[in-house]
Amino acid sequence: MTASDTAIFDPAVETRPAAEQRARDAARYPKQIAYLFERSPFYRHKLEAAGFRNAEAVGGLDAIASLPFTDKDELRRSQAEQPPFGAHLAAAPERILRIYSTSGTTGVPCYIAITPRDLHLWTEISARSYVATGVRRGRRVVSTYNLGPFVAGAAGETMNKIGCTHIPVGTGNTERLIGAVQRLGADVIMATPSYAVHLIDWCRARGIATETLGVRQIAVAGEPGGGDPVIRRRIEDAFRCKVNEAMGIGDVSISLWGECEEQGGMHFGGRDFVHVELIDPASGAPLPLEDGATGEAVYSALEREAMPLLRFRSRDHVVVNTKPCSCGRTAPRVRCIGRTDDMLIVRGVNVFPSAVREVVSAFAPRVSGQILVRPQAPGVKQDPPLPVSVELARGTSSDDALADAIREKLRSVLVVQTRVDLVPWGSLQRSEYKSKLVER
Ligand SMILES: [Zn+2]
Repeated sequence: MTASDTAIFDPAVETRPAAEQRARDAARYPKQIAYLFERSPFYRHKLEAAGFRNAEAVGGLDAIASLPFTDKDELRRSQAEQPPFGAHLAAAPERILRIYSTSGTTGVPCYIAITPRDLHLWTEISARSYVATGVRRGRRVVSTYNLGPFVAGAAGETMNKIGCTHIPVGTGNTERLIGAVQRLGADVIMATPSYAVHLIDWCRARGIATETLGVRQIAVAGEPGGGDPVIRRRIEDAFRCKVNEAMGIGDVSISLWGECEEQGGMHFGGRDFVHVELIDPASGAPLPLEDGATGEAVYSALEREAMPLLRFRSRDHVVVNTKPCSCGRTAPRVRCIGRTDDMLIVRGVNVFPSAVREVVSAFAPRVSGQILVRPQAPGVKQDPPLPVSVELARGTSSDDALADAIREKLRSVLVVQTRVDLVPWGSLQRSEYKSKLVER
C-alpha cells in the first residue's frame, strides 16, 4: 500500500498542524529570497528599486507584505524585453527540462520554464489536489484537458504519480469521452464545469441517460463555475455523482487547491513549496487568512528554480474557510467566487459576473444558465443600472415578470441595480471550454 491508495496523497504534509506549517515556511522563505537576489535579475532589480538592498533587508515571512507584488503583465514585459524567457529566469538555460506557454491575449505566448525539480514540486502539489477531488489509484479517470503546449500538460505526470488509470481524450471529443465511460468503465471525469454541463446536453440530445453511466465523480477546474451551487447541483443530479473542484494557476503550479469529499471548498495543496496570502484587490493591503475572509489570492514560491515568483497576483477572488475538516486535512480551504479582472464596481459595490450567474441560475428551469454582463463604460467602475443579458431556457418565451424577478433578486443578493434583458435560447455564445461572462 502506498500513500496514493488512501484518500490523502501526502498525509504527513496535509494533516500537519497549521502553526507547524507556518514555522516550516518561515524557515524556507529566506533561502528563496537569497536565491532570488543571487539568481533572478528581475527580482534583484525589483527588490532593490523597492529599497531592499539584499536578502537580509527583506526580512522574514512575517514582513512579506512590505514587498512589491508581481503581476502577469510584468512577466510579459520582461519576456518582450529579454526574449525568450525574460529577466525572471533564475536557472541556467541548460537546466530547463520543459517549456510551457500560456495563451497570450495579445497573441504572443508567455513562456513558463521548469527544471526537473520544479516538475517534481508541481506534480507533488497537484497530486495532493487531485487526490482530494477523487482522482485516486484504483479509479479510471478520463481527462478532457488539452494537454498541448499548456501547463496542464504536466497533469499526465501527476496522474502517473497518483497511479490512477488515466484515459486522456482532450477537449471537444465528447463521443470518445462518453465512449470511455461506457466501454472502459471510466468512473471519474476531469473537465471544466462548462464542459460538464455541455456533456449533460450532449447526452440528452442522443438519448443517453447520464444518471446510469456509472460516473462517481466529476473533478472540475479551469473556471470558477465549479463552486456555483446551482451548476454543481445540476451536474451532480444529472450524473448522480459528486462534483469536486480544483484550481491552479499556470505560473505557480498546475493545480494548487483541491476540494475533498466534505465539499466545503478547496484545500491548499502547496504546503512547503508555495506560500499563499490574501489581499484586498483594490488597495493591495494584506488581509488575514481567516475564516470567512474574502480577497485575492497571492502566491510566493518557497522553492522554485527556473522561474520563482514573489507575491504573484492570481486575480482569483476567494472566500476562505478555516473550519476543521472531517477529511483530516489541516490546510485552509477556499471557494473562488470570480476573477478580479472581471470584477466591476457599481456605485461602490464589487460585482463579480460569476456571482451574477449564480443568482440568475436559481431561476432555472426558466432560464438556460447562460448570462452576459455588458458594461457600458470602459474600465472597472460602472454606473447603474448594469445591463445583463439572461438567456431563456429552450422553449420559454420572454416575460416581463421574470425579468423583474431576476432584477429584484440581483438587487437583494448582490446589492446591484441591473437592467435585465431576456434573450432567446441559443443566442448567447457557448464554449465547451470556458464561459465568457463579460462583453468587453
Ligand atoms: Zn477536507
